[in-house]
Amino acid sequence: MLDRYCYPTKQPHFPLSFKKRASRDEFEANRGELRALNCLICDHDHFNEIGQVDRYGFYYPTGICQVCGNVQHIKYYNEQSLILFYSNVFRDIYGRQTPAEIFEGQVERGHQLVWFCTDYLKEDAAVLEIGTGCGGILKAFQEKGCRVTGVDFDPRFIEYGQKQGLDVRKGDISAVDSAEKFDLIIISHVLEYIVEPVPFLQKAMDHLAVGGQIYIEVPSLDHVAEGGYNYDLLNYYQNAHVIHFSVATLTTLLHKVGLKILKNDNFICCLVSKSEEEVKDIEANFSDMRKKQIRLIDSIEKKRTSLLGRVCRKIKNKFMS
Ligand SMILES: [Zn+2]
Repeated sequence: MLDRYCYPTKQPHFPLSFKKRASRDEFEANRGELRALNCLICDHDHFNEIGQVDRYGFYYPTGICQVCGNVQHIKYYNEQSLILFYSNVFRDIYGRQTPAEIFEGQVERGHQLVWFCTDYLKEDAAVLEIGTGCGGILKAFQEKGCRVTGVDFDPRFIEYGQKQGLDVRKGDISAVDSAEKFDLIIISHVLEYIVEPVPFLQKAMDHLAVGGQIYIEVPSLDHVAEGGYNYDLLNYYQNAHVIHFSVATLTTLLHKVGLKILKNDNFICCLVSKSEEEVKDIEANFSDMRKKQIRLIDSIEKKRTSLLGRVCRKIKNKFMS
């Protein structure tokens, strides 16, 4: 492992203000012991460590599964540390925008999602978003005539969404009545935070109407290999993310729970539906997937240190300064 991925770093990869650095250090000093995670795709427990630090300088042990090649946190926070992180630290480190600013950006993104889903979107569709934030994405669907519902945990966001005339409820999917079904369920930038993605997706599927779809959006390693985050995993790693999907690993996870991809890109945005096919032996693909994943990580590192990677960073730094 190169020095730049080892913990502790002399400098965080992203410059932090004094307040943010103090918040991070206080969390690191007070969090409990990390607990080992098995692979979230194949459930085995052997990893090759490829990183120890995220972009803010948090301890972030990251590994590639020795069986299926999935890339994820290999030791994660316990329940109390997560409460500490999300109540005291998350907003200090990540929260730069007001609910109004977040909402505005979400509405714009929502219009893109409407376009992405348009071939499958029924008139008057019932739409649920899990982790809706302020509900801006739902607003775009509401403007198209859909009946929309959202769930989230942050009271600031919930209040803001409700003031915009949206049905935003506090909690996770259990805040929705078990009998309620939806034509479209949106899970955008949520799945990468989930420590148990299989039961999470299964619960969502229980609320899917016959013929309905789930829209899933996650950051992806394929996108980094195509120049996202300037080909740099230290721009990409953040301690709140548990798993780093590629198209291959997300497809395998979806197949495992009985979902098939209708359309997708490498970003990853994808629209999925329940598969009629029986789930076959997914383990047969693990060896090939692991080889692909190793090639993917190697290609990102090669591109980061290439002339192209260096030029991209210079242009971005100039543009941002
Ligand atoms: Zn695995």
